Amino acid sequence: MSVDRSTIWAYEQGEPQDFYYSRYAHPTGVEAERRLAALEGAPDGQALLFASGSAAATALLLALLEPGQTVALAAGGYFGTGVIMDDLGRWGLRHVEFDQTEPPPPDVDLVWLEAPSNPFLTMPDLEAAAAHRAPVVVDSTAATPVHLRPLEHGADFVLHSGTKYLAGHSDALVGAVVSREAEAHRRLARFRDHTGPACAPDVAFLLLRGLKTLQVRVERQTATARLLAQRLAGNPNVATVRYPGIGGLISFDVRGDAQTVERSTRLIKNATSLGGTETTMESRYRWEGERVPLNLLRLSVGLEEPDELWADLQQALA
Ligand code: PLP
Repeated sequence: MSVDRSTIWAYEQGEPQDFYYSRYAHPTGVEAERRLAALEGAPDGQALLFASGSAAATALLLALLEPGQTVALAAGGYFGTGVIMDDLGRWGLRHVEFDQTEPPPPDVDLVWLEAPSNPFLTMPDLEAAAAHRAPVVVDSTAATPVHLRPLEHGADFVLHSGTKYLAGHSDALVGAVVSREAEAHRRLARFRDHTGPACAPDVAFLLLRGLKTLQVRVERQTATARLLAQRLAGNPNVATVRYPGIGGLISFDVRGDAQTVERSTRLIKNATSLGGTETTMESRYRWEGERVPLNLLRLSVGLEEPDELWADLQQALA
C-alpha cells in the first residue's frame, strides 16, 4: 500500500468521513492496526498505534487508572516501564513490584506483566494473573504473537514496543496496544486521540512492512537464540544464561568484565534495543545500575549466520 501523508481529508457534502484529521486516524495506521489485531487474535481492528512503546504504556496507565490506584508490576521487566510509573507517582499513581511467576498481590487495580521480562527473561503465570479481579496488561514485546497471544490466556491488553520485533529493522519507533474489550479499546482510543501520541503514516508503513516478515524473522531468531543459549551455557567464561526457550533475546552473566566483552565483538553491534535484523549486545548495568548483575549482557539475536555469531561471541568471551 502507498503512504497517504495527508493530515486532512475533505468532508463529503459537509460530512466528515472515516478520515478527516490524521491525529485521529489515517489509512496506513488503520491498516496496521487491523493487521496487528488479527495477529493477536483480537476482535476486528481492536488495536491502537502510538508514537512509541513508552507512549502506549503511558496512555494505558492514564486512560485506565485514577489517582490513588495501584499497579502490580512484574519485577525484572523493562526498567523504563517502572520509570514511567515512578514519574506518574507525582500524579497519584502507585506501583508495587511482584514476582510474575507467582499470582499477583490481591489489592491492586491493574496487573502489568512482561512476556518474557527484559532482561531477566522470566515468563509470567498468565493463568494466575487472569484469575485476579484487576485487568491484566501483558507487554509482549519480546514474545511477539509468533510465540504468544496473551488474549487467549485471559489478558485484557497486549502492549508492544513495535520498535522491536514487529517493525523489526531498527528504523521505526512505534508502540501498540491491542484490547480484548470494545469499551476499553474505545476509552483508550479517545484518550490517544485527545492527547495526541499518534503514530505517523510513514512509521505505520514500516510497521506494516515489518509484519509481513515477522513470522520468518522471529522463527529464525528463535532457532539461532536456542543454539547460542546452549553454547553459551557450555562456555567456561559464562556464569549464568537466561533464555526462556522462545524469542531472540538472551541474557547472560560473564565471569570477567562485561564491558570488555561488549567492546570486543566484531560482527555483533554494541548497541541498545532489541528485535532488529542485526544482532546487538550490551551491558545493561550502564542503564539499570544495581537492578541487574554488574556483568549481565543482553543479547538480541538477529538474522546473521548462527556459526558466525557464535564465533564472534567465543572470541569476545576469550
Ligand atoms: N517494553 C519493552 C519490553 C521494551 O524493551 C521497551 C523498550 O526497550 C519498551 C517497552 C518501550 O518501548 P519504546 O522504546 O518503543 O518506547
